[in-house]
Amino acid sequence: MIINAASMESEVRYYSRLFPDIFAKGTGSYLYNKEGKAYLDFFCGSGSLNYGHSNPIMKNAVIEYLISDGIINSLDQMTEAKYAFMEEFFNVILRPRNFNYKMQFCGPTGTNSVEAAIKLSRKYTGREKIMFFEHSFHGMSYGSMSVSGMKRKALKPEYYLNTVQMPYAEHPDSIDSIRRHLAKCSTEDIPAAVILETIQAEGGMKTATREWIESVYQLAKQYEILVILDDIQTGCGRTGTFFSFENMDIKPDIICLSKSLSGYGFPLSVNLLNPDIDCWEPAEHNGTFRGNNLAFVAARKVLGYWKDEGLSLNIRISASLIEEYFRNHPLLRSLELRGRGVMRGVVMESEEINTRVQQLFFQRGLLADTCGYDNNVFKIMPPLTIERADLEKGLQIIGTSVKQLLTAEVSSI
Ligand SMILES: *Cc1c(COP(=O)(O)O)cnc(C)c1O
Repeated sequence: MIINAASMESEVRYYSRLFPDIFAKGTGSYLYNKEGKAYLDFFCGSGSLNYGHSNPIMKNAVIEYLISDGIINSLDQMTEAKYAFMEEFFNVILRPRNFNYKMQFCGPTGTNSVEAAIKLSRKYTGREKIMFFEHSFHGMSYGSMSVSGMKRKALKPEYYLNTVQMPYAEHPDSIDSIRRHLAKCSTEDIPAAVILETIQAEGGMKTATREWIESVYQLAKQYEILVILDDIQTGCGRTGTFFSFENMDIKPDIICLSKSLSGYGFPLSVNLLNPDIDCWEPAEHNGTFRGNNLAFVAARKVLGYWKDEGLSLNIRISASLIEEYFRNHPLLRSLELRGRGVMRGVVMESEEINTRVQQLFFQRGLLADTCGYDNNVFKIMPPLTIERADLEKGLQIIGTSVKQLLTAEVSSI
């Protein structure tokens, strides 16, 4: 069946190659193939299924909404479902944090929100340049690719004329490079915005420190550069708090959210805008699928998880279980474990070894993605709601597989 599918689907397909099975069902932390074989999911739709599969809290609300003939697509008309979602988002997420933002609905996917953020920054400042970081990833449409260090080798230089790349947090000279660059910019060369991730997920789970992010922010403010924080993968709880930068002293001008915003795998993206920069004219940036009401219904329901500390606590417990497992494991302890919360990357020696270990995970019933500019990092992204026994089971598969691979390496020398 996989072979037949390959004759129908473009060569661009990827995850069907990484996870070569036909999936039929998903419940909680598990996916199942047609025959009912279970796979533990540490991939989580690249962070778009943070609350697990078929989460009953959202599922029941969505079913009820469908049965009641609730409107499905509404562009940007106001609907009951959209209003209820916005109200809940302000009450549960924004107001308790004293965050003063307006919401822009951007079209269904993450890259739509990045495009909108770039466009608005250029309009607001009247300047063109966008600063971005080496090994960043912000999406696959042309504007987003032009600020994605991960994708630059795929683009001709003329596609990124109005951008400037800087070294990311791990580079000791990063802040000085930015400072030196800005000091020599002519007025029109000063960037309109800087776009950044707090953890470069696709770039290899490289994790910026609070100090680095605050320094970038302060430099940007000094030059009146807008700060676009791409929290598409790092947000919605992945790092332990709803936003990935909550313990930092920054106030981004635009926050991009998507992936797990609907909580159920429905496409939804928004930009949170500092109201002072909201200089859009009506309809200046539109799109047909900005009114995905099934997503609104689920997105409202999922916010119930953020009304108390329960989920944050579970994420912290899971995070320390992962750290402990690595610290106490005779082989894993020597590997570099990156990331925060339940957003982790493990650095392998080469792409080849990484690919082989990922295949061993799959054979043992564990789904995990790979990342990094050199594709030598594997990702650990379990659901935020995962139960302890399942997390431990996944960690054991990781331990056993790495051991099998590394001992085979040694004995083959
Ligand atoms: C996934 C992702 C995007 C792009 O989102 P799409 O829905 O795939 O367009 C942008 N930025 C980051 C950090 C992402 O992880």
